[in-house]
Amino acid sequence: MIIFDYNQEINIVLSHELDELEEHIDDVFKFHGKCINSISRKQIKDDIAFYKNYADAGFYLGYYTEFGTTILLGFYNQELGFQRIQWESSKCSNCSSIWRVANPTYLGIYPDYQFDISKLRYPLINCPICGGKFSRPAIWCELLK
Ligand SMILES: [Zn+2]
Repeated sequence: MIIFDYNQEINIVLSHELDELEEHIDDVFKFHGKCINSISRKQIKDDIAFYKNYADAGFYLGYYTEFGTTILLGFYNQELGFQRIQWESSKCSNCSSIWRVANPTYLGIYPDYQFDISKLRYPLINCPICGGKFSRPAIWCELLK
């Protein structure tokens, strides 16, 4: 499906479309034998495998093309709309537990770094174990260790 986010037209790959995308990577991303925006075919395959695992949690692989370059983006959607996210590791500043987090505030995922916090669709969360602050902002987390 197509969404418009920060004035960009973005292809959202629905979970049932991931297999098909994997089969047609070369057609969809038009590598012409080389990498796109330093994203390799292997990385796209890894991303597809990753998003298959996280589809049930509400995560989607998205991509758009600009000036002939394809950019991959992660999205989260739990009823309140599609939110760009960056996957990161984050540590609780209080109990030191380590988490995989979805960070929506990373400027590199927004065009011209124009992140607008008022457009954030999901609240930032704290450590589920102790309520402490994460080292990186998060709207979703999963305990790593
Ligand atoms: Zn904690």
